[in-house]
Amino acid sequence: MNLQGKTVLITGASRGIGRAIALKLATAGGNIAFTYLGSSQAEIKETEDALQQLDIKVKGFYSDASDFSSTEQVINDVVQEFGSLDILVNNAGITRDNLLLRMTEQDWYDVLNVNLNAAFNTVKASIKTFLKQRSGSIINISSIVGIRGNAGQANYAASKAGIIGFTKSIALELGSRNIRANVIAPGFIVTDMTNHLTESLQETWKKTIPLNRVGLPEDVANCALFLASDLSSYITGQVIQVDGGLLT
Ligand code: NAP
Repeated sequence: MNLQGKTVLITGASRGIGRAIALKLATAGGNIAFTYLGSSQAEIKETEDALQQLDIKVKGFYSDASDFSSTEQVINDVVQEFGSLDILVNNAGITRDNLLLRMTEQDWYDVLNVNLNAAFNTVKASIKTFLKQRSGSIINISSIVGIRGNAGQANYAASKAGIIGFTKSIALELGSRNIRANVIAPGFIVTDMTNHLTESLQETWKKTIPLNRVGLPEDVANCALFLASDLSSYITGQVIQVDGGLLT
């Protein structure tokens, strides 16, 4: 799982699953570029400091993943400053949960813009670099909710289902150029995104997980490392659930 000399770009890696993926891929020797938007300076410094201790090249970029031109600028800067782009992880994500009856148009578009349109933005902006290199691994973070649906998350589920269709399509388009695209669909992972759920709801989720524990960001990061590395060189267009068996 050696990523020595490879350039990795992860969207939304200032905390949570994105940060865990950054640390895991950096431990394997990858140079890490990451984006953030609303995180505090303290959180960003903490992420950068942890990465810098691993003796790799690191740079954080303030950028809204849902903004096309800002994303294009970041990708251009990464390629210029790091010399390549080998692994792209679309991780940035938000929720605006509500029953459809109460969901506003803004809630719908905010979630679609960050969770789905952002993946289009990054892939569109990096495709020429991948084609020139004749290699690349794209890892898109979806959710089991994108496979199954979830009451109160119509916007989120639609965005995460969209990620799966998008990824399978680009895997078909780009496979002949040795560019792979896969999806990770996490289940219940302990991060800020799930911490705001009530204790009783968290307990209810936990009871339905066959492996009898909630997931950790590192569980998702381990899968990302596999998909980033050459150990997965014959795997593309796939959805890998990291959910302790929750959706089985
Ligand atoms: P989190 O702790 O809330 O972190 C979300 C990350 O996304 C933050 O780093 C945030 O950065 C970034 N972000 C949000 N909007 C952004 C934007 N417009 N531009 C750039 N970055 C943005 O969430 P998480 O649990 O780690 O989730 C990471 C991914 O896993 C998401 O795609 C989520 O849907 C997916 N997922 C999570 C779970 C779970 O149980 N936690 C389950 C399935 C799937 P800033 O703070 O700097 O804005």
